[in-house]
Amino acid sequence: MAFVVGGFTGLNGRSGARAVSRRAAGVVMMASSEKLAADVDLKKMSLKDWERVLTPEQFRVLRMKGTEYPGTGEYNKFFPTAGTFACAGCGNPLFDAETKFNSGSGWPAFYDVIEDNVKEVPDIDGSRIEILCNNCDGHLGHVFKNEGFPTPKPNRHCVNSACLEYREN
Ligand SMILES: [Zn+2]
Repeated sequence: MAFVVGGFTGLNGRSGARAVSRRAAGVVMMASSEKLAADVDLKKMSLKDWERVLTPEQFRVLRMKGTEYPGTGEYNKFFPTAGTFACAGCGNPLFDAETKFNSGSGWPAFYDVIEDNVKEVPDIDGSRIEILCNNCDGHLGHVFKNEGFPTPKPNRHCVNSACLEYREN
């Protein structure tokens, strides 16, 4: 087992992510039963709401812009030949599995994004470019460019595993 997700004792990361999806769906149902808009505006969800639907580690990284310790993430050394990595917060497909490569950095790396689903925001001091889920504004990591990796595109999207949920198709 890669790690135990806090709050979901006994589940590994992937099972935990499924549990989170069910809990997230529960929030939507709850919202509609309270006669709120059918579509929850993810970009306006409060931190308290997010804390309810995410694991503590997902919340720390996605909503508080934290970084997981290098080499510890569930997907760091996971290289499927097909499938998609989606946002662990909202399910938005972010990266195709075939664009994942081994950067040796200790975090999952992708040379490309699924178009329009990831946005780039320069850090305030201009030193790095943050990447966010374009659907829920969840923090994913940073993108580094022209580092010399022999990838089809000269970009390394350095992403925390905690932000991702792998789907086989
Ligand atoms: Zn998202």
